[in-house]
Amino acid sequence: MPRPRKCRRVCLLPESDLFGPLKLQKPDAEIVFMTVDEYEAIRLIDLEGMTQEECSEKMDVARTTVQRIYNDARNKLAMSLVEGKLLQIQGGDYKLCDYEDSGCGCKRCCRKK
Ligand SMILES: [Zn+2]
Repeated sequence: MPRPRKCRRVCLLPESDLFGPLKLQKPDAEIVFMTVDEYEAIRLIDLEGMTQEECSEKMDVARTTVQRIYNDARNKLAMSLVEGKLLQIQGGDYKLCDYEDSGCGCKRCCRKK
């Protein structure tokens, strides 16, 4: 039986969930699917400048998990950039941050007032 997967804490959902080349769109372009937790790892590490360690605490998962999520996410970004594939962000094992309890300290946290 598969182990139940632990939800990753996510502070912000993407405003747009579909990305791709604005020029030279191929009608049959392949779609690369990125999960919301992968998107969050990119956001925290590449935009907020967190280390994988900090990111793992923030998302409430093991560092090895973050490493895997992050690598997958980077690979998908590269495929989209280099091969002109569409990138769609959807799904994944995540729960939205509950700012009140955790006080996550995230600048862009969706729950922050
Ligand atoms: Zn948050």
